[in-house]
Amino acid sequence: MAVNNFLPEQYRKTNQLGINHNYLTQQFSDHEEIWKKIREVVVRGDFTLGAEVDELEKEYSVFAGAKNAIGVGSGTDALFLSLKAIGVEKGDEVITTPFTFYATIGAIVTAGAKPVFCDAGWDYNIDASQIESKITSATKAIMPVHWSGKPCDMDLIEALGKKYKIPVISDACHAINAKYKGRSSGNLGTISCFSFHPLKNLNVWGDGGIITTNDDDLADRLRLLRNHGLVGRDECRIFAYNSRLDTVQAVVARHLLSKIDHITQSRIGNAHYFDENLKKINQVKIPRREQDITQVFHIYSIMCEKRDELQAFLIKNGVDAKAHYPVPMHLQPAAHFLNHKHGDFPITESISAKTLSLPVHEFITREQQDYVIELIKGFYA
Ligand SMILES: *Cc1c(COP(=O)(O)O)cnc(C)c1O
Repeated sequence: MAVNNFLPEQYRKTNQLGINHNYLTQQFSDHEEIWKKIREVVVRGDFTLGAEVDELEKEYSVFAGAKNAIGVGSGTDALFLSLKAIGVEKGDEVITTPFTFYATIGAIVTAGAKPVFCDAGWDYNIDASQIESKITSATKAIMPVHWSGKPCDMDLIEALGKKYKIPVISDACHAINAKYKGRSSGNLGTISCFSFHPLKNLNVWGDGGIITTNDDDLADRLRLLRNHGLVGRDECRIFAYNSRLDTVQAVVARHLLSKIDHITQSRIGNAHYFDENLKKINQVKIPRREQDITQVFHIYSIMCEKRDELQAFLIKNGVDAKAHYPVPMHLQPAAHFLNHKHGDFPITESISAKTLSLPVHEFITREQQDYVIELIKGFYA
């Protein structure tokens, strides 16, 4: 089968829905301020790791509470380069969850390692109590995914990392500004990886990502890996990659970093409003919320009976209801070589069959939320 770019058609379709996950036109209604800064970049001509990248990295490391922040080409590259930075090679194993976005597993496999899956719990995150049983002499990293912006059980995961001397690399692509027991998501485990994809909570005008770590040696290695291994124009220390955060995207990222608290609080407020209203519906199950965790709701997901029918009903009524994601990683065609089958990760499979995501971004109004709530109530009535 030919592989075509399916995204233009996907944008066209979802843009027709009134209540949408895609809010980018509103997000950048003040784009004149951004153009002004970009014009300055064009005049200076520092497109490649220019001054704006340095400024963003300084701001981001303060914001994320980590000593180092390294801008890279995407969230996927953040994960891949982090695995390379800790020395992952062919034959190594990385423990992670099958309930994630493709990029987590893609990064592990393209780095040469084998993904070793550990089932999720009912909160959608990796069930940390099962990780220890998966550790072998080949385990090179543990890669928890802070799904929907809820940090995983990091006390337990960090303790395992220490006990077995295995680095913990977080896929924090959903978790910008999330907190775990007062600690920032950029300051958990060994390395945290963030995405600036256009539909993430801090979004740029294309692709981008950033890595945080308190380990200065790893930070140096990451700076080499993203930029051809160069320490200067004429000295290459290791042959490496080109995955630099684009200077133009750094301008956009800085603009939104200044608004991230508003973005985060709006999402949390909208999620709580849905929680309060949807928990009254018997056929809907809200994942557990934790007192000492700030979940930032990159996506707002609930578990629903008759998910597919409800999703179709909501779409028919103008609501961009999505399933993130209906087929877990171990059952994807790409995972055939791992020889998994249905039933291997029962909680993951059950969540995949029931999960439904509703838009909760900062431009959704209470009236729109009420409309969605009434639709769901009506569907089950
Ligand atoms: C978006 C995402 C990524 C990849 O980020 P990109 O910037 O799109 O490469 C990785 N992991 C998770 C969980 C994501 O949602």
